[in-house]
Amino acid sequence: MALGTILEEKEFETVRKGLEDAAPNAFWMNCEVRFHKGDIIAYIGQGDPTRLEEILQIFLDWAKSEPDWLAVPPKATQEGLDRMYWEQLPQDDGSLECADEFCQRHRISFSVYCRKHHFESTRHKICPFEETRRTTIHSGLSAV
Ligand SMILES: [Zn+2]
Repeated sequence: MALGTILEEKEFETVRKGLEDAAPNAFWMNCEVRFHKGDIIAYIGQGDPTRLEEILQIFLDWAKSEPDWLAVPPKATQEGLDRMYWEQLPQDDGSLECADEFCQRHRISFSVYCRKHHFESTRHKICPFEETRRTTIHSGLSAV
């Protein structure tokens, strides 16, 4: 429920009531969040039938304590996803030239393109990122 929202990294204090009471018609509830790789992926609300409104209210109080609780976090935006993709692309391997005829950079591992042109060929858009890491510029004098 929370993954892909700004709530995925928000602290939640588990609420448990009446769980120690074993009587069949006891009032009880359990509100907690589940994590996957450090992010909250679900809000879990359980309880006896009289507790539904309270369970939902606990969730809403928690969620709405963030003024923009329905906002999408930067890493879930297209730009954030593009940046994550760009940053995981490997360095050039320092051997062959990029397959783009006007490019002087070296291709990256497992590609015929440099990072920039690999990004553009796989994402089908202009690469908005600049190479900030070490880049080998082809001298035109390399041995073949
Ligand atoms: Zn290139």
